[in-house]
Amino acid sequence: MGSLSSSYFEKAKTLIPGGVNSPVRAFKSVGGTPVFMKSAKGAYLHDVDGKSYIDLIGSWGPMLFGQAHPVIENAVKEALNDGFSFGAPTYKEVLIAEKICSMVPSIEKVRLVNSGTEATMAAIRLARAYTKCDKIIKFEGCYHGHGDSFLIAAGSGVATLGTPDSPGVTVSTAKDTLTAVYNDLESLQHLFEANINQVAAVIIEPVVGNMGLVIPKEGYLAGVRQLCDQYGALLIFDEVMTGFRLSPSGYQGICHIQPDLTTLGKIIGGGLPVGAYGGKAAIMDMIAPAGPVYQAGTLSGNPLATTAGLAMLNLITENLEVYTRLAEQGLKLKMGIRSQLDALGLSYTINQIGSMFTLFFTNQAVNNFADAKTSDATLYGKYFHGMLERGIYLPPSQYESWFISDAIREEELAKILQASEETLQQMF
Ligand code: PLP
Repeated sequence: MGSLSSSYFEKAKTLIPGGVNSPVRAFKSVGGTPVFMKSAKGAYLHDVDGKSYIDLIGSWGPMLFGQAHPVIENAVKEALNDGFSFGAPTYKEVLIAEKICSMVPSIEKVRLVNSGTEATMAAIRLARAYTKCDKIIKFEGCYHGHGDSFLIAAGSGVATLGTPDSPGVTVSTAKDTLTAVYNDLESLQHLFEANINQVAAVIIEPVVGNMGLVIPKEGYLAGVRQLCDQYGALLIFDEVMTGFRLSPSGYQGICHIQPDLTTLGKIIGGGLPVGAYGGKAAIMDMIAPAGPVYQAGTLSGNPLATTAGLAMLNLITENLEVYTRLAEQGLKLKMGIRSQLDALGLSYTINQIGSMFTLFFTNQAVNNFADAKTSDATLYGKYFHGMLERGIYLPPSQYESWFISDAIREEELAKILQASEETLQQMF
């Protein structure tokens, strides 16, 4: 008899394109049938067939403290008593704006939206209005959501599906997006030189999660900042993934580079749909109704998502030691898998920073998208399924970061490493 997951998937395919509401969930690059989840708590996901998994995705980043943390859960339950959505300002929007501005020094003013995609789309519109230039520069393999301007040499699910340039994006839109090589200042400088006075902004994942995890080289982001200043473009840090994950002030709090604008998402929603963009007041005050740049949202700043986000941010500032704990777990995971690979005479690359992690099935260092693409996707698929069988839920793609949550403690780590050892031994 087939599993409930496979029967849901068969039915879903008749009703939802590809059977899923976001492409990477369909297991296309790793093969097999996606697992349909029923519930989640702490470090564990529970599927519709009654099997449990240690969660190394955390809803693609938001669940820093694990699934359904009681503080966030209770805050949302309490907020439900006051109603769902008013389409009018609420005091909680002021509280969360104050919280975000106090945590991320480069953000003087912030606007809430409903997703990371909305945040990045609005940020480049704003940058174009501010600089009166049309072009933007992004980096090959970076993903900034599914706005048309970003589906050019994009990573994440777009890379997984092998369609980096989506049909439906017009040629005229695509021509305004220039693509540089990550970790390569020369390639960025070439683009600036070839497009003098035409570049509105450089948008970058300061640490990339969407080609698998790729870490900036020493001095690289400072170089990007310097080139933006030299050529008169705004610098946008897309911290939808890294914001509040790597430090309470995002990766900018670690690298000490101040972007002009920052985009946020994932963690600031505590698991509910929220995005935000913010930065210097002089730029942000161009947004309607303070200024002429239009951007709006029926559900923007809605009380439930705002409550969840605020509870999450408060939890962070009350438990700052969480980042040390997460980094320790990340390092232990790296060292554990590294020694398993060593024992088998394998030298695959592991990138890890704090609670973000990728095992690349390539022997070369992974510093950009071309490097990431040297990974053997078939081997990743085998590893993924070996782990899944043993109750560990990894991203179903080589081009995604794993996310460790604070609910993953010694017991879970031991289980992950045990599953990895068995899987690698079975594979090699
Ligand atoms: N920016 C980055 C860096 C992301 O990782 C993502 C999503 O994974 C987005 C933007 C888009 O966010 P959302 O999926 O909430 O639209």
